[in-house]
This record gives sequence, C-alpha cells and structure tokens, in this order.
Amino acid sequence: MSELSSLFREMTGAVVLGVNPPVHDFTFFDLWAKPLGLLFLLDYLRERGNRVFLADCIFEGRTGELSFGRNAIRKTEIPKPACLAAIPRRYHRFGLGEEDFRTLLESCPVPDYILVTSMMTYWYGGVFSCIDTLRQVFPRVPVILGGIYARLCPDHAKRSGADMIQTEPLDLEFSLPATDLYRGLRYGVLATTFGCPFRCEYCASRLLEPSYRRRDPGLVLKDAARQLSGGGAKDLAFYDDALLVGKERHFYPLLEALNKRHPGTRFHSPNGLHVREIDDECAEMLKKRGFETLRLSFESSDPEMQRRGSDKTSDEEYVAALASLRKAGFSGGQLETYILAGVPGQSVESVERSIRFVLEHGGNPKIAEFSPVPGTPSFRRAAELLPGLTDEPLLSNKTVYSSYLAGNMSPTELQALKDLAKGQREERSKKPKFAKRTAYYP
Ligand code: SF4
Repeated sequence: MSELSSLFREMTGAVVLGVNPPVHDFTFFDLWAKPLGLLFLLDYLRERGNRVFLADCIFEGRTGELSFGRNAIRKTEIPKPACLAAIPRRYHRFGLGEEDFRTLLESCPVPDYILVTSMMTYWYGGVFSCIDTLRQVFPRVPVILGGIYARLCPDHAKRSGADMIQTEPLDLEFSLPATDLYRGLRYGVLATTFGCPFRCEYCASRLLEPSYRRRDPGLVLKDAARQLSGGGAKDLAFYDDALLVGKERHFYPLLEALNKRHPGTRFHSPNGLHVREIDDECAEMLKKRGFETLRLSFESSDPEMQRRGSDKTSDEEYVAALASLRKAGFSGGQLETYILAGVPGQSVESVERSIRFVLEHGGNPKIAEFSPVPGTPSFRRAAELLPGLTDEPLLSNKTVYSSYLAGNMSPTELQALKDLAKGQREERSKKPKFAKRTAYYP
C-alpha cells in the first residue's frame, strides 16, 4: 500500500479541505465536468470521521446558467506563458479570481490537510497558482496534489509546491462521491463503471484506471439518489469511458431504475458512446429512458486511424447506429459525433473525408482536437516531432498543439475543417484552404 493510501486509511478526526483549481487556458466550457476522484476521496475521509470541505474554483466562479444545468464560467485574461507567447489568441484564468479564492479560503476553518486535484496536464498553471494562494493563506498546512496531471506528470508536478504527490490510483470504489458539498449544483454526475476495456493509442484511460470494473449497482443508484432526490438537478451526465459495453447486464437495468426513480431526468453522455453497441433496441432504450444529448465515438473513417482507435468501430457500424438512433426519434442535431483531428501522421484530407462521411449519413460532426497525453504511444510519436513536449505540458494544449505548435495542420486548415463540420462552408471552396504553415514554437 502506498504512503498516501496508508495516510488516508488512518486519517481520522482531521479537517480536510478539497480544492478544484482554476483553469488557465485559451478556452474552457462547462461540459458537466466535476472533480469526481476528489469527491470520492472526500466522502471516504468523511466516512472515517474527518470533517471535509470543498473549494471548487470553477463552480464558485460561475456567472450564469446555460442549458441542461451547466454554467457559464467567469474568465479573466492573463498573460500567456512564455512558450505560448507567439500564439495569436487570448489566454484566460477560468473560475474564481485570486482575490475571491483567497476570500473563500478565509471563510473555511483552518484545515489539517489540503487535497488539490488536477485535470488536464496543460492546466498546471492554474494548479500552481492555486497552491501558491493556499500557501499564503494556510502556510503550515500540508498540501497533497492528486488528479490526472499529478498522475501522468509526477516529476513535473513536484515543481507545484505541494508536499506530496499522489501517483497511484486509490481504491475508493465502495464510497460515494461527496457531491452534497456543492450548494446549488443543477446537474448530477455519475459513473457506473471505472476504466475502459479498449486501448486506443492516444488515450490514457488504461494508465489512470488499469482495470475495467463495474460499480456495484446498489451504490450507483444510491449515488444518483443523493444528487437527484432533492429536485434541484434535472440533468445527469454519465462519466463512463465505456458506458454501453456489456449493457444488457449492467447499464440497461441501471438506466431503467434511474428513469423510474427519477422521472423527467435528462441524461447526457459527454464521453463518446461506442457506436458498435448501438442497435435498434439500444437506441430505443436511450430515447425512451430520457437521453437528451449523445456524443458518439466515431473518430475517423480512415482505416489506419480506426486501427489506432482499437478498431472499436467501422463505417458500416456507424451508419447502422445512426439509422437506429434516427429511427428511435433522435434528431440529427442531438447526434454529435467526435472526429479526431491533429493526430501525428493524420492528414488534413483524412479528417475532411471523415467529416464528409458523417455529414452524408446525417450525423453531426464535432471536431475533437488531439492533445498528446503523456505515457501513450501517440505522445511518443508526437514528442519525436516536437521534443519540447517531454518537459513542457503546456505544449500539449489541445487548442493549439496541432494547429500552431506541431505543424501537422495550419490554423486556417483547422478552421476550415470546423466550418465544414458546422456545415458553414461555402460551395465555392471545395477544399479546406492550405495556408502557409507558420512556426509558433521553435
Ligand atoms: S475507447 Fe475511449 S476511453 Fe477507451 S481507450 Fe479508447 S479513447 Fe480511451
């Protein structure tokens, strides 16, 4: 058992503050993202007799309401980090500003431990800034940094100023996430499984969750009831990487129970659904039981890209899945289909063909810009082309990696692909424009 696992197991009677840092990035949207790992850990500690508090800089920085329970998040322009200085786009801090964060912390009891989470590796600027503020307000309190960035870049994370870095997964699956620590959250978040049975070359799922496990159905329903029973939340987002795999035994009974116990709840799948699993019965089940927005994992019609994506789908299966979903009553606009763009070795023409394929069959293509994730085969390939990636996670920022830094497509080409995906391209330009490629990073 790791040092941190033992610490958490033995901790009792302590005051623990969990912190979700602000995000430093070019863009940020509330896609029902909540720090689930941190919430699981806080509940686990609470069950062991500790008092837990949460300071979520993103949630506390909300400025207005968006559709399906989501929020608009405050943004403040900040200087770009030096390695991104040449990028002609604005950089922001999303969430609470530094002063407001400090005020929030001063309203909390002095903790015995602070647990800071992290998500994207290229968001570490927000993590460092957050730890800096925590150090000023609570100078003698140990700070433990966990989450995705800490797990994938443990050496880099040592520069954060945290006292300890969580590098291993914690076994917390018998607890429930402490979502009740939010006041006024208008949506629920739910995982019915952990991990993914596939192994796509560009994904870190296996690194973060080495095994694929189904959660105890009783706990899943208890978790949902905690979030939906008060009546404040009408939407629920599933966090599963492979929601539909083995659906007859696990997901269908859960969805039926959720729909029965919480009628009127709208369900969302911000992570892509595996299209191979969607047949007439499945589409009907999703529609009847309240799915409102679907994201489909198609990624590419290019056989080589499909191979890199674990061959988890084929063109024929995508077309069949769309037909089933349309038959069940989903509109084209509801069927957002992820198309991956900017993977090393992937041509612009290959992305264009994939978008056209989805459009031709009535889908709604959505470009997912590739970001190299440390530890994956795609990262190794990306680092051969852009060696700075190995030491500087900021260079893997999805908004600028492929279009400005790696040079595998130009910003103009990327924009043309996005326009094509949105159906805004004019007839006269049959091909995306090939602009001269500019080096924004030496
Ligand atoms: S199917 Fe999705 S979650 Fe699973 S390995 Fe592939 S990209 Fe990752």
